[in-house]
Amino acid sequence: MLNAIMKALSTLGICPVPLEALAVPGARDCIRSRQAAHGKEREHVKIRRFHRRNHMRKSGPALAAALSVAIALSAASPVLAAETDTGVTPIPAATPTISEQVSVPSPARAGAAWTDSTILGSIQYDTPIRRQDDFYSAVNQKWLTNTPIASGAEEASSAADLNAAVQAEKMSLLQDTSLAASDHDAQLTQTLYQLLLDWDTRNALGIAPLRPFVAAIQGVCSLDGLTAFLCDDAQNLVGNGFTEISISQYINNPEYYAVEIAPTSLLLSDSADYQTISSSGKQELSLAQSEAYYMLGRLGFSPLEQEEIFNGCLSLETELAKDMDSDKVKSAADYYSVTSNKPCTLEDLQREAGGYPIIPILQARGLAASLVYNLPEPGWLEGMGRLYTAEHLEQMKDYLLVHTLIPAMELTDRKALDAMIELSHDASGVSRSLEPSAIAYHYVEALLPEPLDNMYVRACTSGKQKAAVTAVVSDITAHYRNMLEQEPWLSASTKAEALNKLDHLTIRVAYPDELPDYSGLTLQDRAHGGNLIQAFQAIQSFRREQTASLVNQRFDDSHWAMTASTVNCYYNPRDNSINILAGMLHAPFYYDGMSDEEMLAGIGFVIGHEISHTFDADGAAYDEKGELRSWWSPEDTTAFAARRERLIAYYNSIVPVQGFGHVNGQSIAAEAIADLGSMKCMLEIAAEDPDFDYDRFFSYFAGCWAAVRDEMTELRYLRQDEHPLYFLRVNVTLQQFDRFCETYGITEGDGMWLAPGDRIAVW
Ligand SMILES: [Zn+2]
Repeated sequence: MLNAIMKALSTLGICPVPLEALAVPGARDCIRSRQAAHGKEREHVKIRRFHRRNHMRKSGPALAAALSVAIALSAASPVLAAETDTGVTPIPAATPTISEQVSVPSPARAGAAWTDSTILGSIQYDTPIRRQDDFYSAVNQKWLTNTPIASGAEEASSAADLNAAVQAEKMSLLQDTSLAASDHDAQLTQTLYQLLLDWDTRNALGIAPLRPFVAAIQGVCSLDGLTAFLCDDAQNLVGNGFTEISISQYINNPEYYAVEIAPTSLLLSDSADYQTISSSGKQELSLAQSEAYYMLGRLGFSPLEQEEIFNGCLSLETELAKDMDSDKVKSAADYYSVTSNKPCTLEDLQREAGGYPIIPILQARGLAASLVYNLPEPGWLEGMGRLYTAEHLEQMKDYLLVHTLIPAMELTDRKALDAMIELSHDASGVSRSLEPSAIAYHYVEALLPEPLDNMYVRACTSGKQKAAVTAVVSDITAHYRNMLEQEPWLSASTKAEALNKLDHLTIRVAYPDELPDYSGLTLQDRAHGGNLIQAFQAIQSFRREQTASLVNQRFDDSHWAMTASTVNCYYNPRDNSINILAGMLHAPFYYDGMSDEEMLAGIGFVIGHEISHTFDADGAAYDEKGELRSWWSPEDTTAFAARRERLIAYYNSIVPVQGFGHVNGQSIAAEAIADLGSMKCMLEIAAEDPDFDYDRFFSYFAGCWAAVRDEMTELRYLRQDEHPLYFLRVNVTLQQFDRFCETYGITEGDGMWLAPGDRIAVW
């Protein structure tokens, strides 16, 4: 878990929230460790989110920058600018329009008239832009040219604003000590917060709290001794040893849990980097080496010993990595449902593990009685068994030392934390100051996300809002049903399955009815002799007990896969649910008293998008109960693929920034299809209102997705995000619809024009 915290915090600059994971009680820490350590979410299925996922690599992340930015973002809402700009931007008569300067776009020259105006400085305040040529840029022009990116942030956007607002709310709850008297969640989070800020004690203790853990590792002198160490969580601060163990919904029988046995954390997030190291791998390696040397030095190891220990760790990891799946392998669409879906029994595990004591480790954690396990990477366990020999004993100890000490930089004194920040700055080239309270806040959020979220739910959400948005979701679902029923290309059998799936859709809005229960966890404050390391171990221990209590139990769906305060929404095929989280229920997406046009363009579009995932390529693999069962007929699968290919080809033809390559249509297809399906549904709802203000609707939609990024960040999103870039999400989606073209009088020659025969409708 320590690794998870460090890495999650270091990526805050790109994450809507520091951590997102399946909310499986007791499994959170292990899931998080995996997702952070490998830059991938340890989900057994791809959860479709509305925003980008949080595993995108950031070039040069800096903890200091990330922490300060997460609190400091305060750019004004782009929609406010859009609201003031409801008319067509006037163009000086003598200035040729954009469309006169470029050739008419066709599928082969898609988007040629558009500027990726998300890129800072790409358009000017007075650049003549017509809505008919580049809708996103025209609607958002004032906002885009007036909104700075907060220092160290990677973007200014509505999502960034919402995150800042939610975090500010949670921070104020954390600092309101009057809550602790009557709220156990407040007691927990505030005790941890105060321990984190108790620098006098932390500095007085220095690195002394680590010495017993280091001594325990150094005291191992045989394989039996190592096994005893791995089975004793009390002396094992790193917690996971060489294995990540979690419990989660069983993919092949979603009514029950399965214990997941996954590979351990490595210093480099992509196992492929151990064969051919990438530039980001080099950066990770350099940082890890500096941090390990620093901590070993603090503990009195000589420079030569530091080098030997680090190299020993690296040698072991290089061997382990040979049998671990690379990021590329994990990015395959069917990785979780097929490639890593490897159910097995305890006997199978024992056989695969060879000499590695997986059974004693499971027994020590109360997990040896599970009826089913999942072993996503069997080759890794086999490799671990081969390496678990006396010959590799010292390397394994080196590994444990390094993986204990690097994350512990955050839990000891200020000197170690400052060193970590400075080394991170050296690696990223970015240097910023840190607010101690902001650092402490993010640790609390990383270590106790659910208790902090419970406080947010009690203070900042309302049953009235939950009921109102639930009604909106039900209404949109009903319209989606109509849309599906009228779909001419879908066969009767597949249509019936789709409708059945829609009828069984679980709708979760705002917050769970039953909040996660942490009454079994107690943290000692300073006055009662508590310290940070003890608190950390208590949280670890509590989670392990939670995990063990779920073995062979029916899956508890009362806990959600993301905390309610997360600024995001998602579809989860495992339980066929759409989840509209409280963190997302703020302006511009949702606010009390918003007009129908704003509602449909804001949260309505988000809801429709999530519903669309029920029927896309991922959703087609799971049935109405969340069981792995392909329910599309072969003919319909082929027909869907053909429609999808058309959209992919169109996106493939777009070059967002000249000289930097095309959009990868394949990688963004699922999200782009969800956008198209949702927009179609919103327009069908709008059509029922004869007075519907389409200009307001389309403009508000474009305003919701206004964002400013620097060019390097935008190009990174182009390469890595599975959602289309913001300006394409708006322009490509809208130009497919007749109503949009009619609203603005878009005709041949305009940049937004697509000939009716070239317009794409997957649904
Ligand atoms: Zn999506």
